[in-house]
Amino acid sequence: MKYFKLNNYKDYSIFFWIILVSIIGITITTIYTTNKEVEAQKIKGTLDNIYLKKITKEITNSLEPRYSSLDYVSRSGDTYQSIVDSLNIIKEEKKILLESILKEKSLKILRTNQKFTFKFDNMTKFKIIEFKIETDKKNEIIFTSSNTKNSFTSKKIKKNFKKRLVYKETSIIDSLYNSAINLKISPNIIIEFARLYGFQVDFQRDIWKDDSFQIIYEEYLNDKNQTVDTGEIIFANLNLQNNDLQLYKYEYEKNKVDYFDENGKSIKKTLMKTPINGARLSSSYGKRKHPILGYTKMHTGTDFAAPTGTPIMASGDGKVMKAGWCGGGGKCVKIKHNKTYQTVYAHMSKFGRGIKKGVRVKQGQIIGYVGSTGMSTGPHLHYEVIENGRKINSQKLRLPSGKILKGEDRKKFEVTKIKIDVLKSNLITKDN
Ligand SMILES: [Zn+2]
Repeated sequence: MKYFKLNNYKDYSIFFWIILVSIIGITITTIYTTNKEVEAQKIKGTLDNIYLKKITKEITNSLEPRYSSLDYVSRSGDTYQSIVDSLNIIKEEKKILLESILKEKSLKILRTNQKFTFKFDNMTKFKIIEFKIETDKKNEIIFTSSNTKNSFTSKKIKKNFKKRLVYKETSIIDSLYNSAINLKISPNIIIEFARLYGFQVDFQRDIWKDDSFQIIYEEYLNDKNQTVDTGEIIFANLNLQNNDLQLYKYEYEKNKVDYFDENGKSIKKTLMKTPINGARLSSSYGKRKHPILGYTKMHTGTDFAAPTGTPIMASGDGKVMKAGWCGGGGKCVKIKHNKTYQTVYAHMSKFGRGIKKGVRVKQGQIIGYVGSTGMSTGPHLHYEVIENGRKINSQKLRLPSGKILKGEDRKKFEVTKIKIDVLKSNLITKDN
């Protein structure tokens, strides 16, 4: 019995030790963690010190591999000189480089989006071992440094790039950018897509969940069938709240390419200076004596006198932000065209059919009718253009002219459009 009891006591003592060890363990871990945080804070503080940062950078630099390479894509405003100057090499080497480039006839003109690749040996005085300049998507010139390193020999190389057209579509879950990235669309194409739609869509606000897009663009593949580059967008459609905004690439003149909607209208939209037919400009933008208030006041719009009931048009594609009472402006409509421009139409007698907040309108669509509501002496349209939140003189607007394809041009465009539509359905069937 005694023996048994002792054994029992031993069992308890094991529990006691386990608990004790656990408590010590937890305490030590807590102290250690706190210390580690303090330590980390200290290290961070030290790294923030500019002097040390510099030293760390130097250390990292010397740890960098001996050979490195750099890719550069030319932008507008670049020159061969400016590109060479931006390289981290000595003056004498820059001179040799530039001379070699300028000797090449096919490199006479530096275009934008021309690709450069430089390969460096970071241990030698003259660093560049080799560099390549793309002359077009399929050709490049490769310059190899001589043994003495004071000249380059050049050789034209044909790149084995195959062009293929890709079709992608998706609904937008969180953002257009993320949805496109998820589809493995290259950032170049996404940026171009956003640029093309910039005249009519505010990407921060106009895109809703479950909006969607379709896109056809060019891709270049190397001999291993890997995508090496992207080309141009051939077709795109952005579906916003069940409205299709389509665009087709079309060469309207030799070497002049633009994007047009399904009606042959350039997507580079201008705003109309006079969004009303048969009206007389009755009061222009500027200081004037207010006809009702009687004192001099800035007139922040343009007035067009016209009989009551004359249709008023949306001066550009956009979204209706307001269709309601605007105090002195009476019944008014406000349209947002893009990030930069908004227009306001005041003193209307009534709104156009279906015109209400949130609705998308096309350039030329009737949004309301002339009236004399609000503070007005007679039937007229008060038209305002707001640029980046500031009211400006609509009659002095300078926007790209919205080209509309007509006659023969229009016929040719229709053929291109049909070809693209056929191509699209082929690509869709191929994908499924
Ligand atoms: Zn006015």
